[in-house]
Amino acid sequence: MKPFYFFSLTVLFIAACSTNAITGRKQLQLFPESSLQQQAVGEYRTFLQQNKVVAAGNSNAAMVKRVGGRLSSAIKTYYASRQKPVELNNYQWEFNLVEDKQINAWCMPGGKVVVYTGLLSVTQNETALAVVLAHEITHALAQHGNERMSQVSIAQGLQVAGNAFTQGNTQVNSIFNNVYGPGASIAVLLPNSRKQELEADRFGLIFTAMAGYDPREAVPFWERMEKTSKGNEPPQFLSSHPSDANRIAEIKRYMPAALKYYKRK
Ligand SMILES: [Zn+2]
Repeated sequence: MKPFYFFSLTVLFIAACSTNAITGRKQLQLFPESSLQQQAVGEYRTFLQQNKVVAAGNSNAAMVKRVGGRLSSAIKTYYASRQKPVELNNYQWEFNLVEDKQINAWCMPGGKVVVYTGLLSVTQNETALAVVLAHEITHALAQHGNERMSQVSIAQGLQVAGNAFTQGNTQVNSIFNNVYGPGASIAVLLPNSRKQELEADRFGLIFTAMAGYDPREAVPFWERMEKTSKGNEPPQFLSSHPSDANRIAEIKRYMPAALKYYKRK
């Protein structure tokens, strides 16, 4: 039985590898992205019901929506210029600010974004908020969550076929929550990898610039974030987006390429 099992896994690996539309990197993708997007809609609705969404009339909530609108339209332009507009077909963008002192923000598959009010004390200005959101959105576009879910599923010996969510696969649901875990009070168990972080920084800077925000704000923003991490309560954001001393150096290295896209609005 064993050799057969190995063979079927190999076939699965080949079938489940896909090349990402923006990064060009081959990734393990066991889950149809469409089923993750569907699952995300439900999780997002539940999260918004269980948390205090800041009303649209509030100036910070309006800022979150404004940044989101500019970024999503820049991303649409970017994909169209690469003849890949179809990749965004199922994106139904939503940007909400939630009253919570956590320093955090996330974007689930399909463009469901939440910013916590606590993050605004670190971003301090609209441009830095654009830097963070572009980073978050890039994780979703680059299907990093799908990749992490796939790696964990393989490690746990899970057989995944079709839409595991509608089949009520509780193990898959639990992996989803550990990767995206919007409402989870538990520590995030499956942080982004270093490679995923660099991709989110690199393309995030391009989208920031295309949306008319100065990508150079990424440097002081990350300096502020790192300073915050030295406090008593490290930001939630850093547990899912591990950072180290090289990050800012890499961001500076990506900057000339990003600045080519920058036109002040
Ligand atoms: Zn990240």
